[in-house]
Amino acid sequence: MKKRLLVIVLACIMFAACSRQDLTESSSTSEDNQIQISEDGMSATRDFFAMDTYMTVTAYGDNAEQAVDESVDFVITIENLISTNIDTSEVAVLNKSGENTVSEDTAYLIERSLELNISTNEAFDITIYPIVKAWGFTTGEYQVPKQEQITELLQKVGSDQLQFNIDDNSVTFQQVGMEIDLGGIAKGYASTKIMDIFRQYGITSGIVNLGGNVQVYGTKSNGKEWNVAVQYPKSTTDYLGVLKVADKAVITSGGYERYFEKDGKIYWHIMDPSTGYPADSGLVSVTIISSDGTYADVLSTALFVMGKEKAIEYWGEHKEEFDMVLLDEEDKLIMTGGIADDFSTDLECQIIE
Ligand code: ADP
Ligand code: MG
Repeated sequence: MKKRLLVIVLACIMFAACSRQDLTESSSTSEDNQIQISEDGMSATRDFFAMDTYMTVTAYGDNAEQAVDESVDFVITIENLISTNIDTSEVAVLNKSGENTVSEDTAYLIERSLELNISTNEAFDITIYPIVKAWGFTTGEYQVPKQEQITELLQKVGSDQLQFNIDDNSVTFQQVGMEIDLGGIAKGYASTKIMDIFRQYGITSGIVNLGGNVQVYGTKSNGKEWNVAVQYPKSTTDYLGVLKVADKAVITSGGYERYFEKDGKIYWHIMDPSTGYPADSGLVSVTIISSDGTYADVLSTALFVMGKEKAIEYWGEHKEEFDMVLLDEEDKLIMTGGIADDFSTDLECQIIE
């Protein structure tokens, strides 16, 4: 029987602008790279800069300090493995030489990226990097490339041209000039692995914010759910709403996170691998809520590329695995039923079941 898509349009409850208290749960104010430990030693938090963004890790429990230190070390280890800007990273070596044998972490990221490239009908594609570079997103020297250049570079894009051998973790490009970028998956993977570190250290409650990618462990120390503010893409101070969650990743890809303007048109950093242009799907932000942060990170990018209809279709086929909040160009919100009771917003919204 064909799945029935129940669309209920409702004016969402008015939500008074979220309070400071809500927001501090996903960002703390300690000095850069300094650990803050509570007087009773039961909680620790650390702010640091890695993977080109600001990050915060907070944990509660007897071993909070060790758990936070190990989490920060883990993020830096991943950055050193996958950063395209660190010449010695496994990904930089692969991009330069067209082949490399990689560590378990990098292999997992590549394997998962390939699997999700297929499942998202190629909307997520780590081989998009030559295109991202051509638009200047790697250097900040932005430009609109000529169509000929895009057409030529698109020949080097396609995960089917990346050979990955699961037996020895060797990776080979089947075309000269191919390059990969794991920037659309690595932060979600890092936050999910931090949840494992928290578990090993017996952490009772924790939250990480890796450049806006939030993942929470358990509930708050008072037993209540965490409040995670979902950013409004066109402003750094406004929020789409606040989501109450426990044991989940909340990951957003927004068009206005990194962009430039040329001749009155906005070009952002999320690319449509089928055109070589910034994704122009009618969506301006996609938030994915899932217990698997790696999956949530990839899907936030992939569903942004797909657009509203295909995103809803994809969700229909994977609804046990995630919830989502979509924002379109007309400031209309669409959210899935699983989070409807937990998301407060003052925007008009549509709930899909
Ligand atoms: P951010 O890293 O800013 O949180 P995303 O998670 O949406 O944003 O990832 C975007 C990054 O992933 C871009 O900076 C780019 O390097 C890369 N990217 C862009 N488009 C795609 C795509 N279609 N598939 C995979 N990676 C992409
Ligand atoms: Mg992402």
